[in-house]
Amino acid sequence: MTIEAPHGFETIAIHAGQDPDPGTGAVTVPIYATSTFAQDAVGSPRRRADRSGAAGLGYEYARTGNPTRTALETCLAELESGSRALAFASGMAAEDTLLRTVCRPGDHLVIPDDVYGGTYRLIANVLANWGLDSTPVRLGDLDAVRAAIRPGRTRLVWCESPTNPLLRVADIAPLAAVARQAGALLVVDNTFASPYLQRPLELGADVVVHSTTKYLGGHSDVVGGALVVRDLELGARLAYHQNAMGGIAGPFDAWLTLRGVKTLAVRMERHCDNAERVVEFLTRHPAVCQVFYPGLPEQPGHEIAVKQMRRFGGMVSFRTGDAERAVRVCDRARLFTLGESLGGVESLIEHPGRMTHASAAGSRVEVPGDLVRLSVGIETVDDLLADLEQALH
Ligand SMILES: *Cc1c(COP(=O)(O)O)cnc(C)c1O
Repeated sequence: MTIEAPHGFETIAIHAGQDPDPGTGAVTVPIYATSTFAQDAVGSPRRRADRSGAAGLGYEYARTGNPTRTALETCLAELESGSRALAFASGMAAEDTLLRTVCRPGDHLVIPDDVYGGTYRLIANVLANWGLDSTPVRLGDLDAVRAAIRPGRTRLVWCESPTNPLLRVADIAPLAAVARQAGALLVVDNTFASPYLQRPLELGADVVVHSTTKYLGGHSDVVGGALVVRDLELGARLAYHQNAMGGIAGPFDAWLTLRGVKTLAVRMERHCDNAERVVEFLTRHPAVCQVFYPGLPEQPGHEIAVKQMRRFGGMVSFRTGDAERAVRVCDRARLFTLGESLGGVESLIEHPGRMTHASAAGSRVEVPGDLVRLSVGIETVDDLLADLEQALH
């Protein structure tokens, strides 16, 4: 059984790439804990029994390919409406492989001025030494993006939407057109939305990046990353580099992520339900002076979010008007666990100015000191509201 369109998202998540095991009939894809595969004769590895992955090719060595990883990659490609996906040891390993595959020393990138901190560190501190140049711009401003593009040198436009931690929204379809006109690829880091809420390849993007650590895994128990592309030739170049570099998802990590992906749709619906209730509570609370959520009609970019997202996600940020009060709220919260990361079933709270975004202090990506960021989990929402009430008191 190969799952093909027009199957729905939930069906794809549970079945794509996940046929019963050809050897045993096991309904769940096994964890193929093996580093190598027996070959029938010199130069002729066994054909893959499943129909996923590179058709007709066999498995030889598990850096190049492993059936558990193939299952995850097949599923992610279909969920993002792509033709190929590759699973990595982390989101950052995926990004490094993408950048070094597509770019050459001397190339230039346009990046969001509020890009994920780890991406900024990789581009500005690591790949800059390799000869990669970058310009941070506000992606909501298409004229600024056009002005930042260097004809013949800009290889990629990097996009995140919604962004971290201010939940800004970028208009993916026109950005893809601007990039294409300049001969550049549009890359969208879709970690915050997940493919359930937003599918950038359908809007014209060339590459989707994921930290599968977040919503795709969904249970805060595994670190992983993925790339998804439409163009098979680019997919083959990325796979070549992935094999050459080796930052692959191991079989147990791939299995945990696949297990998480099966429930992505139901989890995202509850994340969105709970986040909407939290936003409603915060906007009415006297100790809160501003709430950031793409679902708020008064937030810039709301119309774009309505157009390109199914719902508005589980991430919410708010300002308290005072940095010390923001820190106190984070320290006082109990059910909201104080911690970095996001996208798991449990609710998390953090102070971006002193935690995830501390390294941005003094730079143009500095965040307000009175900002609090929530990753709203899927607990009973009344318990979450009660915890926020006592923390804000
Ligand atoms: C966490 C994250 C990453 C990095 O992924 P890792 O799995 O931690 O390496 C990249 N982009 C965004 C938006 C993230 O939240």
